[in-house]
Amino acid sequence: MMNQNTNFIPFAKPYIRKEEEEAALRVLKSGWLTTGPETKAFEKEFKEYTGVKHAIAVNSATSGLHLCLEALNIKQGNLVATTPYTFTASSEIIHYLGAKPYFVDIDEDTYNLDTALLEKAVKNNNISAILPVHIGGLPCNMEQVTNISRKYNVPVVEDAAHAFPVKTKTGFLGTQSDAGVYSFYANKTITTGEGGMIATNREDIAKRMRIMGFHGIDRECWDRYTEKKASWKYEILEPGFKYNMPDIAAAIGRVQLKRAESLLNMRKEIAEMYLKSFSEIDFLKMPAVSEDHAWHLFIIRVCEEKLTIRRDEFINRINEKGIGTSVHFIPLHIMPFYKNKYGFKQEDFPVSYNNYLNSISIPIYPGLTKEQVNYIIESIIEIGKECYKAAV
Ligand SMILES: *Cc1c(COP(=O)(O)O)cnc(C)c1O
Repeated sequence: MMNQNTNFIPFAKPYIRKEEEEAALRVLKSGWLTTGPETKAFEKEFKEYTGVKHAIAVNSATSGLHLCLEALNIKQGNLVATTPYTFTASSEIIHYLGAKPYFVDIDEDTYNLDTALLEKAVKNNNISAILPVHIGGLPCNMEQVTNISRKYNVPVVEDAAHAFPVKTKTGFLGTQSDAGVYSFYANKTITTGEGGMIATNREDIAKRMRIMGFHGIDRECWDRYTEKKASWKYEILEPGFKYNMPDIAAAIGRVQLKRAESLLNMRKEIAEMYLKSFSEIDFLKMPAVSEDHAWHLFIIRVCEEKLTIRRDEFINRINEKGIGTSVHFIPLHIMPFYKNKYGFKQEDFPVSYNNYLNSISIPIYPGLTKEQVNYIIESIIEIGKECYKAAV
């Protein structure tokens, strides 16, 4: 019964409606396409929404993370403690600065940094920063991370690429460490096509990031002169980067920000449907659940000892039913670059490696209909039943 559902269900799809179209068009017609009034307004609205002191819009979360580490003076030879269970962006930015990632394995249930291992790493090595990633939108244990940060006096930059808008009891996830960075890439929880936002309460690094994110130009000087219109004078303080968010993206982002909560609720509903329908299924393991969850990803694990097929074949069968899937993540330590540079072996980070082996990400995004979600559920259960290992 291949493709019984004639419409292929993609793994991810942005939620773009008339308001986003109108916002982009408004900018196209305005005569000002790059960073300008829309970006300023987006930053202001983001600050009001999250309560953070400084919000800096950038052209990707990758550039945002780079700016954070640069502003914290991470440099040649430094070590940054982070997880191998993430997208390469979290780690490549460490290399941009000549520093090295110090990988710490994850907790099996949450896929997030194992904070006991993290403390050991920070205690026994000269670690210059901690970079936790909230995988799939499930918060890392930030209480523990913060304790470690204070105890050893090491700053924390959160890769909150998956984590907008998670409001915990103590505030928005990504706003309570030295800095946090959200991604607005096309498949993330809210999108501007490409884009990101840095959140920080630290005036010193905010100032540095604004300068470095725009060619190392002294912004105050720049603003002062642009206000007077006729000016051509500015000062270059450093060889900076070109990381500013254009107004077309910001205008779309402003609409998405207004939708953020309702988009989250739509993802929550889908997560609840999956959790409920799969609760009795013994050949699947469900993801860890939390009140505070962005549900950017829904990662199921196949229990291979109960099945006649392995994860990769399970994925093929889901795809054959017209359903898109993905795997988050192929751990960095088995990627050629990291493997060759650091001589890692698969078993160096056993939890990451083993979680990777049986994980499958299934669709979870606003715009998926209840019928589609039910079709995904039925299809997965059907595959498992067809391939169920008979009891011996
Ligand atoms: C998507 C992603 C990023 C990078 O986001 P961009 O906006 O595409 O640069 C960083 N970290 C993680 C974990 C991601 O999934």
